[in-house]
Amino acid sequence: MRLILLGAPGSGKGTQADILKEKYEMEKLSTGDLLRNEVKARSDLGLNAQSYMDKGALVPDKIMIGILEKKVAQFEASGIGYILDGFPRTEPQAEALLAMLENYNAPLTAALYIEVADNVLIKRLSSRWTCKACLAIYNYPEGLPAGEKCTACGGELYQRDDDKPETIKYRLQVYQEKTAPLIQFFQNKKLLLSVNGCGEVEEVAKRIIEILPG
Ligand code: AMP
Repeated sequence: MRLILLGAPGSGKGTQADILKEKYEMEKLSTGDLLRNEVKARSDLGLNAQSYMDKGALVPDKIMIGILEKKVAQFEASGIGYILDGFPRTEPQAEALLAMLENYNAPLTAALYIEVADNVLIKRLSSRWTCKACLAIYNYPEGLPAGEKCTACGGELYQRDDDKPETIKYRLQVYQEKTAPLIQFFQNKKLLLSVNGCGEVEEVAKRIIEILPG
């Protein structure tokens, strides 16, 4: 299976990608996690990407497509299925991905769109805290309890700059403008599967598994 996950920031793409990865024993690429790791390592890519990410803007297509070319080559060489979380985010990225897959004679199984209402997205993003060490995500609608640490690794929890209220609004705008048109793009290619992303994580996962082929 080769899947891409579409949905606004906060729609649960990362969480669902982790569940699907386990269930179907696939590889997962989160472009957001990849970039955050580069920022942490202070690599040239990270330093370049950070200025866009902190503002909630998209990293330029040319950079992202270059990253994907390398990753897709690795995935295809491994012969294991894979899920892309956070790519494509623009029409040029989507076109580039389809062209890459065509080169490998490797058809995309589906573009899975996780649909969540704006008011729910804002609530989820503004209560999201991330582990500095392992990037695990937690939700604290009432704010971070004093002394709380990552239950997975004990790391320090922080609120991503782009999860702060002023940036959330901008990220949703960028999503509407640049990424939402991909829903129609993949619909036209008969590759779109849509799922209601409201409700508990397990409930949404069940809905996704029901509609995935095989
Ligand atoms: P995410 O964790 O998927 O919300 O991504 C965090 C940030 O990384 C985004 O707001 C963008 O700045 C950047 N980013 C991640 N994936 C992409 C992509 N495919 N194209 C452009 N920018 C991206």
